[in-house]
Amino acid sequence: MKNVLKSLIDLQEIDRQLFEIDEKKGSLPEQVEKLESQAESIKSDLRNTQLTLDKNQKELLGINGTLMDAAEKVKKYQDQLYLVTTNREYDALTNEIETVKSGMVEMEARQLVLETEIEELEGTMASSEQQSTDFLAQLEANRDELKEKSDLTDVRQKELELQREELTKNIGQRYLRKYDRILKARRRAVVAIERSACVGCHKQLSPQVVYEIQQMDSLIECENCGRILVHIPKDGD
Ligand SMILES: [Zn+2]
Repeated sequence: MKNVLKSLIDLQEIDRQLFEIDEKKGSLPEQVEKLESQAESIKSDLRNTQLTLDKNQKELLGINGTLMDAAEKVKKYQDQLYLVTTNREYDALTNEIETVKSGMVEMEARQLVLETEIEELEGTMASSEQQSTDFLAQLEANRDELKEKSDLTDVRQKELELQREELTKNIGQRYLRKYDRILKARRRAVVAIERSACVGCHKQLSPQVVYEIQQMDSLIECENCGRILVHIPKDGD
């Protein structure tokens, strides 16, 4: 019986650790997933800003080119004004010049809008790029750390499960079923006594029961909470 009780004590310790691992593991994948989706959204925000910036710069480049062409055209028409001989030709040319110039006014307005937007976007890019780089590096570090923790936990869990399997071979089915039943209901199935009381529910025990527990010759359950009571010798005991 002593051996069964000792094995049950060891089993309880393994199950305590497995329980802890289960609780810890629950939130790990969730945390990793959350960090990754945050990282994705930061990257995609930056990409979108860059795309808008590229688009605006391209449009501005086009407008600048067109404006230069238009200015040249105006200059050419103005030079031709000196050469015309009839009023009709003169009117036609001045009309032409006005049309080109009014097109230029529209383009210059758009040019101003684009230049302002680009300046703002470049400012946003510069500040958020640095922020994002720092943030992403931080996320990466957190993710690696979590992954490492999670892997370590997996290894430890496998170890404990193997130990548990070995250990249960030393315990009869009858005791094992009882243990499992109490574990499910109470989370801890095997508890020590402290100052003549059950550690699980603090119920005071009679000297006779305490004596029997100390003998470790029989499986004694707490009459109040049903947990298996054992004597765990302390150092120097
Ligand atoms: Zn109890």
